[in-house]
Amino acid sequence: MKHLLSIEDLDRAGIERLCDRAASFAEVADRPIKKVPALRGRTVLNLFYESSTRTRSSFELAAKRLSADVVNFAASGSSVEKGESLRDTVQTLAAHRPHAIVVRTPWAGASKLITQWTDAAIVNAGDGQHEHPTQALLDIYTLRSRLGSLDGLNVWVVGDVRHSRVARSLVLGLQTMGAQVTVAGPPTLVPAEIAVLGCDVRYTLDDLPQADVVYALRMQNERMKQAYVPSIREYAAEYQISSRRLGARQLLMHPGPVNRGVELAGDVVDGPQSLILDQVRAGVLVRMAVLYEVLASGGGPSSPPDGPPDGPERRRRRPSGGRDPFNNPELHPA
Ligand code: ASP
Repeated sequence: MKHLLSIEDLDRAGIERLCDRAASFAEVADRPIKKVPALRGRTVLNLFYESSTRTRSSFELAAKRLSADVVNFAASGSSVEKGESLRDTVQTLAAHRPHAIVVRTPWAGASKLITQWTDAAIVNAGDGQHEHPTQALLDIYTLRSRLGSLDGLNVWVVGDVRHSRVARSLVLGLQTMGAQVTVAGPPTLVPAEIAVLGCDVRYTLDDLPQADVVYALRMQNERMKQAYVPSIREYAAEYQISSRRLGARQLLMHPGPVNRGVELAGDVVDGPQSLILDQVRAGVLVRMAVLYEVLASGGGPSSPPDGPPDGPERRRRRPSGGRDPFNNPELHPA
């Protein structure tokens, strides 16, 4: 995998491979020194044109736990405020020869565009309302860790689908893993075209009890140029997930940040069915796996002196049947 731009870059085997690799990194998080040298000598640039708490911190932690050098770039406080274009910014930063660029922008398709301007591996950390593939991967990882398999799982994605990059990647990723997906919300926030992804579309929560997993989406006010619901109170009355609506056997997910009292009632956010903090923890592991994979496949302008950590050459030289030393964090004490 040279880049990760869309969840559609991965088939089921690819998602499973990334989840397995993420699981192999889980033990690193419990060590006193949470580091393995797998990406030593590699540079990861985090290029963020939009605000982020979870995604940015987890990509930074992921890169550092793999011993990569990390440069964090936020558009605010940079020359972007003086009018520098995306292309000039990328080319300026690419002059430092990062091996991977993790990019979040408000523009759909920007991460793909950036692949034309640099040799670095590009990881899409959210492009406008389009896609957020690592969010879908961490959600799948979270469910797989909890349930084993997603085959036949019934997942309802509820809320502001229209403005959500999470929704598109999630629906595609869940279906690839064998889940059945229903999206639900008010017609103004659930465009009928979403059905082309193969999911079911509902405008009421009457059948919500059928769901095994309820995935609530944030009301993304910053992307709204008009009122999509009569009022937050009316929206909450029809679509808020509260302990009254969430069945005892249903699991609850949300990509964060949560608007408490809007899409979710506070009691379910902190309740025993909530996987929200598991999702955050999974974010670091899955992003370690993604960075490892794009860099291991030779991404970036040049390899470090000892070659890629798990490149094809090294894989070929490994005796068959042996353990993969680069996939075993235990063998890499910091
Ligand atoms: N954090 C997610 C995103 O960046 C979800 C959200 O903001 O609502 O898209």
